[in-house]
Amino acid sequence: MRTDYIGNYLEQKASQYLRTLNIRLPSDLNIERIFTLENLDYRLGNASSYIVVNEYRLITINKQKTPKQQHFEFLHELSHNHFDHHKYLARCDNFEQEACHFSLYLAVPIHMFQFINFESDNLVQEVSDLFNIPEEIAYQRLQNIFDNCNYYNIFFTRKKNIRSNRRSYYGN
Ligand SMILES: [Zn+2]
Repeated sequence: MRTDYIGNYLEQKASQYLRTLNIRLPSDLNIERIFTLENLDYRLGNASSYIVVNEYRLITINKQKTPKQQHFEFLHELSHNHFDHHKYLARCDNFEQEACHFSLYLAVPIHMFQFINFESDNLVQEVSDLFNIPEEIAYQRLQNIFDNCNYYNIFFTRKKNIRSNRRSYYGN
């Protein structure tokens, strides 16, 4: 992976946040480690949610979900915590969107791209396993990385080059 991938503002913030928690390896991205570091209470329940009562903060994750889904839903609830969304009186539609994007960036943060073989034919499956996230989430994140690479005009695979060249042919 090229090291010149920049990513958008929120993507950089997600990576920065994890680095301040000293989360450097994909295996560091585990629920127990994060809720301990963030001083959150965590438990399995019937639904995924983020609850705040005064100083007490609890993340509940739906126990019926698969381990990969649980991991990703945890990152989603963690995003609400990170942005202190509970402090705003009116719930804003943007909060949900912000948490959705941020959790995607937390799931596969920029500073861990070095562990991904972007040339692999089995990329989605590998990212899903390495980062313990559902395949559809891995796909979504990869799509999003490729889109950003196009945006910044950075090519990191030959395939990508061909696609981007084709795009520029149409004037994009
Ligand atoms: Zn949410």
